[in-house]
Amino acid sequence: MEITENSSLSKIDIKNLDFDEIQSFVCEMGQKPFRGRQLYQWIHKHFACFFEEMANLPKDFRAALEECAVIGGASVAEKQISKDGTGKFLFALSDGNYVESVLMKYKHGNSVCISTQVGCRMGCRFCASTVGGLVRNLQTSEMLAQVYEIQKISGERVSNIILMGIGEPLDNYDNVVKFIRMVSDEHGLNISQRNLTISTCGLTEKIRELAGENLTITLAISLHAPEDGMRMEMMPVAAKYPISEIMDACRYYIEKTGRRITFEYSMVQGKNDSASAAQELCRLLRGMNCHVNLIPLNPVEGRMGQRSDRGRIEEFQAVLEKNHVNVTVRREMGRDIDAACGQLRQRYSV
Ligand code: SAH
Repeated sequence: MEITENSSLSKIDIKNLDFDEIQSFVCEMGQKPFRGRQLYQWIHKHFACFFEEMANLPKDFRAALEECAVIGGASVAEKQISKDGTGKFLFALSDGNYVESVLMKYKHGNSVCISTQVGCRMGCRFCASTVGGLVRNLQTSEMLAQVYEIQKISGERVSNIILMGIGEPLDNYDNVVKFIRMVSDEHGLNISQRNLTISTCGLTEKIRELAGENLTITLAISLHAPEDGMRMEMMPVAAKYPISEIMDACRYYIEKTGRRITFEYSMVQGKNDSASAAQELCRLLRGMNCHVNLIPLNPVEGRMGQRSDRGRIEEFQAVLEKNHVNVTVRREMGRDIDAACGQLRQRYSV
């Protein structure tokens, strides 16, 4: 492949560099470290997308940056705002792929749900995101851009981020951990790690690795079933990671980090929503420092399952409460705008 001198292929995406890396980068360009701080703040505090905006950087430095670097990311291709204020954003990536993100407004602040991969290879049968398989991992800059662009558009500070959009975050481990560190960096958006949540279908070796990263984020496990047979019918990945091993990894995570774990449980009618399944879930979680989030299934055309009815969900919840398991039912937002992950992108790609 021929690469011309000015081709963006040969340029570094400077938005992927963390605070220390950007200092070294500018030093190599013959600049003082404080220029690195300025550059970092332009990109991660003021969300600059062009070097020419960076008024306090010398002109020749900006020209030099232009030669060797780009500010990567993603741009909003479509947005839908629901009656309840929930926003759904379709992001176009530089290679023509799309991902999506959701903004949810709560009394305690604004929460953004972002994607971590283009597509997904985990194959959960009820999920829209996995239909075409995995296309590629998102870069750190592309995850940051989802948050930055939404904050710019909404004009309000994002205070919580959940990695629950398209993709399996722990299948893109290095970029995701870097994202967590950068978005909580005091020189950038400076969001408390306690307000960041990673959701995983249960990749046990990565859960253990994450426990050693010295982070104070919340870990959410997509459990969805209290026993392996039932779980395998919903999630092919369950064949590789038995529930017992996931529980061991979770106990290790809790012990190492002191953080409570959230278990997500999407309620599928007639599949995992019986009172006996609830009893079994209680047995599984007994004595564990955890919280269960019941999610009424968002039925996706062509994918498995219908949503459990209200009564079933309440009954399930009552069993957990009686057994002193912390439980909440996820409030539904943005139903009128396809806010279930993957639905917007799916419509776009067919
Ligand atoms: N891959 C990660 C994160 C993305 S999915 C994970 O598995 O956790 C975020 C959550 O939404 C997961 O708990 C997932 O199982 C759930 N989910 C996916 N599609 C859904 C649907 N149609 N209805 C309800 N929950 C769904």
